Amino acid sequence: MTVTYEEALQKYEPVFGLETHVELGTRTKMFCGCTTVFGAEPNTQTCPVCLGLPGSLPVANRRAIEFTIRIGLALNCSIAPRCRFARKNYFYPDMPKNFQISQYDEPLCVDGFLDVLVGGETVRVGIERVHLEEDTGKSLHIGGATGRIQGAEYSLVDYNRAGIPLVEIVTKPVPGTGYLAPSVARAYVTELRDVLRSLGVSDVRMEEGSLRCDVNTSLSVRGSGVLGTRTETKNVNSLRSVERAVHSEIERQAEVLDSGGRVIQETRHFHEDSGATTSGRSKEEAQDYRYFPEPDLVPLAPPASWVAEIRSSLPELPSARRARLIQAWSLSELDFEALRNAGALDVVEDTVLAGASPADARKWWLGELARRANDAGVEVSALPITPADVARLTELVASGTLNDRLAREVIDGVLDDEGTPDEVVAKRGLAVVSDDSALLSAIDSAIAGNPDVVERIRGGKVQASGVLVGAVMKATRGKADATRVRELIMERLA
Ligand SMILES: [Zn+2]
Repeated sequence: MTVTYEEALQKYEPVFGLETHVELGTRTKMFCGCTTVFGAEPNTQTCPVCLGLPGSLPVANRRAIEFTIRIGLALNCSIAPRCRFARKNYFYPDMPKNFQISQYDEPLCVDGFLDVLVGGETVRVGIERVHLEEDTGKSLHIGGATGRIQGAEYSLVDYNRAGIPLVEIVTKPVPGTGYLAPSVARAYVTELRDVLRSLGVSDVRMEEGSLRCDVNTSLSVRGSGVLGTRTETKNVNSLRSVERAVHSEIERQAEVLDSGGRVIQETRHFHEDSGATTSGRSKEEAQDYRYFPEPDLVPLAPPASWVAEIRSSLPELPSARRARLIQAWSLSELDFEALRNAGALDVVEDTVLAGASPADARKWWLGELARRANDAGVEVSALPITPADVARLTELVASGTLNDRLAREVIDGVLDDEGTPDEVVAKRGLAVVSDDSALLSAIDSAIAGNPDVVERIRGGKVQASGVLVGAVMKATRGKADATRVRELIMERLA
């Protein structure tokens, strides 16, 4: 028996939470001076500290602490006036010290929130904590078919990533989203990524692993008020996968519960191809790690004046920008989501700044240009046309120099590297013919060539004039202003 998503939701209330790891974009590592460039030759960015050699001592990276405070403030957290790093002990081949320096009972930022927009509704996601730690190295398994350790002939370890500053952002459990739980989870990661990008603290590339998500999901029986056992799905590495992972765990857990079973607290792996999760290891408890305060680092005590300085330097955050643009451009929240999901926010805003009306800017970027980007398989912002070009195009249309059809031809020219819109208009001779005398000869031949149509118009069938307008547009290769042509035809036949 398979439980459908709808059946699961009738009986159970899903609760999810997210743990997101973000690699900070600092120039050097968290506790040493090694550089952090992505893609360097293996083990060329290492030193005694990040290799965990005996006697080496860590020194905290001030910039990484500043970035973490920036993130905490942007997520409406309180910044701890004093906190400590801790050692999280476990053995892993890509972690040469056999412990990871992290934060445990004293995180740097606590108790915040992030508001996200889903289907026109705002949902507040609570933030439990934001803490700072170091990344591990990376194992490469060579010789197997899958790149996994099973079946590999040997493994290599690259310590370039070991010690890169890593921030972990943990949400509070998010209840009450019901059917929308998977969409809210996805919207949260999307919004968080936008916040981190606006702060300039990370390149937030999910495909390169600088933003990684673990998704916790549980079900409680509706109305029981008892939280269910949660599972943790590891390393869900795209926005779409976040949504699918929550969706598939809701279905799977409902089926386990309905058949009288118990959900086991465990780590699960998400499979990109099937969209399902499979069991990993049973989840370690915090006590398994034998945390203790890191004796080689002094406590962290960011002065209030420094925190205030960082707060005053925060950029406009996505939520503030959203509120501002919705108001300034008279958008609905759904209009706004469409713009953001099309990746067109920046280009539309720049087009408006260059002089276009918000409605015109949205029309061209979400219509014609989105189509071109889609055909070319690129982001709309990657098209070789600038917001200034599009603003000029809307100006040429508004002034009657171009109609929409000619404007599309101008776009062709700009995308084909023929120059600015004005240069393309000049080179291709594209301006609308608005000189009445030039139009009248075309109108007269259209009238002469269609006596039957003229008869019908004179007989009161005004809509038949479309045939004549079409003939004139054809004769002028689309360069006539259709409204003016219609007026002139009616005057001629009056
Ligand atoms: Zn190092």
